Amino acid sequence: MPDREHNVVLLGAPGAGKGTQAKMLSNELTVPHISTGDILRGAVAAGTELGAQARGYMDRGELVPDELVIAIARERLAQRDCAQGFVLDGFPRTVAQAEALGEVMDELERDPLIAVNLTVDEDEIVRRLSGRRLCRGCEGIFHIDDEGVEDGGECPDPDCDGELYQRSDDRPEAIRERLQVYRRQTQPLIDYYGERGLLVNVSGMGGPEEIAAAVLAAVRGRG
Ligand code: AMP
Repeated sequence: MPDREHNVVLLGAPGAGKGTQAKMLSNELTVPHISTGDILRGAVAAGTELGAQARGYMDRGELVPDELVIAIARERLAQRDCAQGFVLDGFPRTVAQAEALGEVMDELERDPLIAVNLTVDEDEIVRRLSGRRLCRGCEGIFHIDDEGVEDGGECPDPDCDGELYQRSDDRPEAIRERLQVYRRQTQPLIDYYGERGLLVNVSGMGGPEEIAAAVLAAVRGRG
């Protein structure tokens, strides 16, 4: 008998560790990691029509319109590799998106999802976002305070010589805007999933491995 589906949504402020935890969880559960932010950044880098539509919003730290991201998620979730589950990172971000996700899940006759809310203090969020550096090669996520991480330098992973860069929306004005947008538009999702009995809170403070163990226990504890 196939394993039950693992349909996971990761919630949390920007910098709460959704990307890091989504990667680890998707490896553990062998289901795809779907990041609408990564898909949109890919579209911007590739210069597609979608990228041109999304770019301005992203650089300002605002949300891309619901219709665009809902269409992306709808298409991606219908793909075959999502049949046993998925880890959604950065979607939904508004109640309208959560409602659309519910409709897609019903249409595809999927099991209920579980929303894992990663909770992190605001001071720590600002520290993480302003120091975050990414690798163009392996897509690793690092912090400027980590050993071997320098602006304009190479990836600290010995198996990778990719270039490190800072996301254009990890600069102070955009960080402030993103945190406000989070409070106004995304935080209501905690109640939305809580009221439906689909929410678990996991502390996002501490080391990635420790948090990953708590996330996995929360997801496995369900169903
Ligand atoms: P992220 O990588 O998840 O932090 O997303 C980076 C940016 O992409 C966000 O600040 C938004 O501009 C846009 N974005 C990603 N996911 C969504 C979403 N679900 N709804 C609206 N905008 C999004």
